[in-house]
Amino acid sequence: AAKDGGRNGCALYSDELEDKATENLWLQNELRHAIEREQLSLVFQPIFNHDGELVCCEALCRWHHPERGPISPAQFIPVAEDSGLIIGIGQWVLLEVCRTLKAMSEKGTPMPAVAVNISARHFNQIDFVERLLALLKAHQVSPAQIELELTEYALLSNLNAISERMQRLRSAGFSIAIDDFGTGYSSLSYLQSLPLSRLKLDAAFVGRIGTEAGNAIVRAIVDMAHSLMLKVVAEGVETEAQQAYLSSLECDFFQGYLLGKPMPASELVARRIAPSAQSASRRS
Ligand code: C2E
Ligand code: MG
Ligand code: MG
Ligand code: MG
Repeated sequence: AAKDGGRNGCALYSDELEDKATENLWLQNELRHAIEREQLSLVFQPIFNHDGELVCCEALCRWHHPERGPISPAQFIPVAEDSGLIIGIGQWVLLEVCRTLKAMSEKGTPMPAVAVNISARHFNQIDFVERLLALLKAHQVSPAQIELELTEYALLSNLNAISERMQRLRSAGFSIAIDDFGTGYSSLSYLQSLPLSRLKLDAAFVGRIGTEAGNAIVRAIVDMAHSLMLKVVAEGVETEAQQAYLSSLECDFFQGYLLGKPMPASELVARRIAPSAQSASRRS
C-alpha cells in the first residue's frame, strides 16, 4: 500500500526508516564484538580552570571499524544504549580509564582527574557502586581521580534510590557532574536535593553566546548553578568571544576545541596550561 501513487512521500519515509533499521542492526552486531576485537579506544579532552590550568580531562570513546573506519559515538552510543551493549562498553571504558591512570602515574607523568560518561542504564545497575569500587581498588586508583558524568536521563527513575547511590559515591570520594545540562526533561528541583559537584553547560548554549537571548540563558544557568554551590563546566568552547563571556560570568571550567581537542593520554599530560594562558605568559 505504501507504493500507491499518492503516497510516495510515505513510501520514501518508510524506506528511510528501513535503511536506518538495517544500519542500526549492522552497528549492533559489529559493536557486539568490538571490545574483544580491540576496536575501541579512548581519547582524553582537556578541561581547564579559570587560570588556564589543566584540572581534569574527559574520557571519550572511539570506535575504529576495520572496513568502515572511524564510527562516531553520536552514532554508536545510542545503538549501544538501545541494545544494552552500553553496560559492557561502560565497564570496558572504566577499566581502560583505570589502566591509563595507573600506567601514566607509573611513567611519572600522572594524569589529572578523568571524567567518565556513564549511561543511565549502566548507572542504574544494582551493583554499580560495588563493581566500580572493586575495579578502582584492583588498579590502585583513588575515587578522587574519577568524576562521573551523568545526563539528566539518569535522574528520571526513582529519585530516592539515585540520591542514595550518589551519596555513597560522594562519600567514597567521587565527583558527580550532570552532563549536557539544559537539554533534558527533568525538573530543576533535583539540583537541590542531589549531591552533585558540577553542571556541564551543554555546547548548544555556548554556541548561542553572542546573541542577546543566548547570553541571557547562559548567564541565568551559571548564576543558578553558583547559587546552588555547583561549579560550572562550559562544553564546546570554540571561540575567544565565548571564552571571554563565560569568564566574565566566572564560569569555573572550560572545555572545547579552542582549548584542546580529544587526544591520547600521552599528549594530554604534556598540556599543563591552556593555549590562551600560554600566550598570556609569553606576553608578560
Ligand atoms: P559529551 O559527553 O557531551 O562529550 C562532549 C562531546 O563534544 C564529545 O563528542 C567531544 O569530542 C565534543 N566536543 C568537545 N569540544 C567541542 C567543541 O569545541 N566543538 C564541538 N563541536 N564538539 C566538541 P564525542 O566524543 O563525539 O562524543 C559524543 C557523545 O557521545 C558524548 O557527549 C557522550 O554523550 C557520548 N560518549 C562518548 N564517549 C562515551 C563513553 O565512553 N560512554 C558513554 N556512555 N557515552 C559516551
Ligand atoms: Mg560528557
Ligand atoms: Mg556533554
Ligand atoms: Mg553533548
